Amino acid sequence: MPDAAPPETLATPATPSPLSGPAHAATAEAVLAALASDPARGLTAAEVELRRTRFGPNLLPEAPPLPAWRRFLAQFNQPLVLILIASGTVTAFLGEWVDSGVIFGVVLVNAIVGYLQEAKAVDALAALRRLLAAHARVVRDGVRTTVAGADLVPGDIVLLDAGDKVPADLRLIACHELHINEAMLTGESLPAAKHPAPLAADTGLADRLNLAYSGTLVTRGTGRGVVVATGRATETGRISTLVAEAESLDTPFTRKIARFSTRLLWLILALAGLTFAVGVARGQPAVDMFMAAVALAVGAIPEGLPAAVTVVLAIGVKRMAARRAIVRKLPAVETLGGVTVICSDKTGTLTQNAMTVQAIWAGRRFYAVSGGGYAPHGDIRPDEAGDAAPPPAASADPIAPAAATPLSLPLPLPGALGQTLLAGLLCNDATLAEVDGRWQVNGDPTEGALLAAAGKAGLGAAELRRHPRRDVLPFDSQRQYMATLHPVAGEHEGHDGHGRHALYVKGAAERLAPHFTAWLDPDGNERPWDAAAARNFAAALARLAGQGLRVLAFARKAHDLGDAVGEVGPALDHRQVAGGLVLLGLQGMMDPPRPEAARAVAACRQAGVQVKMITGDHALTAAAIARRLGLTVPEEEATGAAVGDSAPGEAPRQAYSGAELAALDDAAFAQAARQCHVFARVEPAQKVRLVTALQAAGEVVAMTGDGVNDAPALKAADIGVAMGEGGTETARDAADMVLTDDNFATIVAAVEEGRGVFDNLTKFVVWTLPTNLGEGLVLVVAIVAGLAIPITPLQILWINMTTAVLLGLTLAFEPIEAGVMARPPRHPERGLVDRVLVVRILVVGLLLVAGSFLVFNGKLASGGTLAEARTLAANLFVLGETAYLFNCRSLHQAPWRVPLFGNPWLWAGVGLMLALQAAFTHLPLMNRLFGTAPLSLAEWGLVAGLSLVVFVVVLGERWWGRLGTAKGGA
Ligand code: ATP
Repeated sequence: MPDAAPPETLATPATPSPLSGPAHAATAEAVLAALASDPARGLTAAEVELRRTRFGPNLLPEAPPLPAWRRFLAQFNQPLVLILIASGTVTAFLGEWVDSGVIFGVVLVNAIVGYLQEAKAVDALAALRRLLAAHARVVRDGVRTTVAGADLVPGDIVLLDAGDKVPADLRLIACHELHINEAMLTGESLPAAKHPAPLAADTGLADRLNLAYSGTLVTRGTGRGVVVATGRATETGRISTLVAEAESLDTPFTRKIARFSTRLLWLILALAGLTFAVGVARGQPAVDMFMAAVALAVGAIPEGLPAAVTVVLAIGVKRMAARRAIVRKLPAVETLGGVTVICSDKTGTLTQNAMTVQAIWAGRRFYAVSGGGYAPHGDIRPDEAGDAAPPPAASADPIAPAAATPLSLPLPLPGALGQTLLAGLLCNDATLAEVDGRWQVNGDPTEGALLAAAGKAGLGAAELRRHPRRDVLPFDSQRQYMATLHPVAGEHEGHDGHGRHALYVKGAAERLAPHFTAWLDPDGNERPWDAAAARNFAAALARLAGQGLRVLAFARKAHDLGDAVGEVGPALDHRQVAGGLVLLGLQGMMDPPRPEAARAVAACRQAGVQVKMITGDHALTAAAIARRLGLTVPEEEATGAAVGDSAPGEAPRQAYSGAELAALDDAAFAQAARQCHVFARVEPAQKVRLVTALQAAGEVVAMTGDGVNDAPALKAADIGVAMGEGGTETARDAADMVLTDDNFATIVAAVEEGRGVFDNLTKFVVWTLPTNLGEGLVLVVAIVAGLAIPITPLQILWINMTTAVLLGLTLAFEPIEAGVMARPPRHPERGLVDRVLVVRILVVGLLLVAGSFLVFNGKLASGGTLAEARTLAANLFVLGETAYLFNCRSLHQAPWRVPLFGNPWLWAGVGLMLALQAAFTHLPLMNRLFGTAPLSLAEWGLVAGLSLVVFVVVLGERWWGRLGTAKGGA
């Protein structure tokens, strides 16, 4: 069959297509028949196995990575390296074989180190990306399950929902307002409205409305389709270049470093040229001066810097992944460290998303529901205290179990309580299952809780069979409700979908309230919706929400659809929900805060990072949960701490609702965004406005999001955070970072790691710049002042090559310092090195130069040879840099407060460095190569002692600096 495939489904031998004709021209039934698939039951496990062997995995061909040799060669394509190669070549022509060899040695080592580091960083990022591989919801063996996208085979029945990425090429069987963004394939930026009807065979790619293409994004609605092509055979698979997402190691910081390095390079080259000119003018041999100029360039240019930055960032990515935060874009690693505001969803991120219905209000009566988790076991009792009492002030306790006797089962379904529970059961896409004695929810936890509550009243599978679903308006966070259509029990048989139906709606209470025209009393009579009914409803809602319960309202509407229900086309639309609703009742569910979230909120407060809860939930529910998390301060404190523009004595608002925000002008909105910590009933579109307002106030904003409409806010935020478990593929695509456990505490952990990364970058820079400065200055001073050179160019090359890798780079592995989260966030505009650090860099650079001249001249004065004097000076440099390394282990704490063996790499580097220096000094071969001479024990002692001076002086400088800060602050 595949041989006969027409061009539209052109099959490659690796992944043949099972269809003989274009899928869009055939009816859905014909395609299903050709693929031997059942639209309701899907394929069997055995059939899936067979097809997997035949068609292969559903993977798109990855663009071949840049071959290793090309990545290696790319290491040489840097200005500094090219200069070195040119100098090495000139030196070779001059017959200075040793010098030329060392220069090429430097080049080679540099390239190898750079290559290895880059390869590691690229691999780490690619591995993380694979962790985020997409999943697909399918029906197999009659059961809905989730499988890895790669496991799909032709004939699989796939379910699509808003926010999904289409996992393979599908022929759609059913669509409900299904809109798909196909820009990546067709260039059309408006989402295409999909429809399952067959089309003409010559319909173009962009107009095949009954197909969903692999990799495109569902923006709205739901759908069901059968897989017609997988892997390479998909439309996307054929344009494989689209799939190749290059791993970029560029970040704003690496670019800044690159710019800095280039500027430094020109400066140093100019200095080198000047030194050469001065030396020659003073009558020095041109060859020597050329070598000196080259050594100056090599010594003074911090060539290890770009590589070190990449290493530090790559280590950061790895450490964050170990703490369940997966960085999708490398720049996020450095931005995270500077985050000043975290805007977080409530449900599932700050709370456990483990919902249990605890209270019901129906027919003007309160009921208490017992039982925990999703087990459909427990009692529903009248809560008489609740009925009698006026709405109490917000309390931390959920509804207390009522003493009244449990209701007898089965509940009378016409009554308000029965109808409320029935609505929760019918207007529901989740299922419950008992696995190893534990009840688990498959689907939305909110809906799982409603199933469990219905189960406690004896409502379950039998009711679902009696009320088959004819149509659905899926939940979306913009509209905040969901509706389903059911034939009225007992009347649907033989009616073929026509006749009397009931519409069940559940959703945010205030969203549905304007559409109520009646309420149901305990006996099932519809009473008119009047002012008293509205007041009663509002009081019940406030009472439940004030306890931190997540409240959903339930309503129904009788519906005579006549012929509206058909095989094709929706019978329900949103206009039908607007108006004529009969309120059935409210269900309030508990979603306990995550204990670790409360700790993370406290950590943020200490770290000077503001936390704002941005939720789709009710303001009172949100405020109650916020209080429990320690997110908002208690009332009295707030009054005392009235901020900024609030009127005297007036407390800043504890919570704003989306509607209130919408009414604010830009200035008031900006103030609210800055001062308030809880934003409730916020629509996804308002999140963008919040992000921009905060950014305009100079904040660095991390924002979480999980829905399809959250993508713009995630993109606008400095750090867009998506959920790995609960979120949509669209949100993950837009995010900079994905949390594998959907947990707020993980964001805070990532911020902590981000701060650690920035610390380590700073440490490296603060260590490397004085050593480069010292190495360069030694030559400049000697030549310009006409003194003997204390360290030969060759020795400088050696020092530079060994210390940068063995000493400096080990700082990248320093663990996070204890106090990182006790400091305020780094100011986004601030450079890496402040004035204090500039002073330190100058002090250390000058100390190294002075020390080397001292030992060099001292040795010569006491009758030592030039080789001995130079060996002393060179060793002073290396040991001085080693001692200074220990000053750099922490930027904020005294060296002895840093765990001595916290960084094994540092000790390994120091050990190797000392061994190399011993060889450099004592091995005859090295003596010949580098013009060195063995030192006595006393001389080693002298060098070590002077190095300690560097250490102590830096200690003193820090102490002095702190004294200055303390005085300045007083
Ligand atoms: P967060 O934004 O913090 O995750 P949330 O889950 O409440 O909070 P949404 O998912 O946007 O935010 O839900 C908004 C509101 O819509 C909820 O408060 C609830 O009233 C209602 N709602 C949530 N889930 C459903 C559902 N499955 N069916 C009907 N209504 C729902």
